Amino acid sequence: MYKTNDTPGAGNYECLTCKSNLITLKDGEKIPECSTPNCKGDIWARVYNN
Ligand SMILES: [Zn+2]
Repeated sequence: MYKTNDTPGAGNYECLTCKSNLITLKDGEKIPECSTPNCKGDIWARVYNN
């Protein structure tokens, strides 16, 4: 589990609050605040594609 402003490395991450916002980060990028309206979630989990 990761939080907003963590830098977990390249990969896909899903907001665990709304479960409808999937983001893709590059190495060194910080996790943003969830952009889903009225969510503002800050807990994220890595999503594996396979
Ligand atoms: Zn969210």
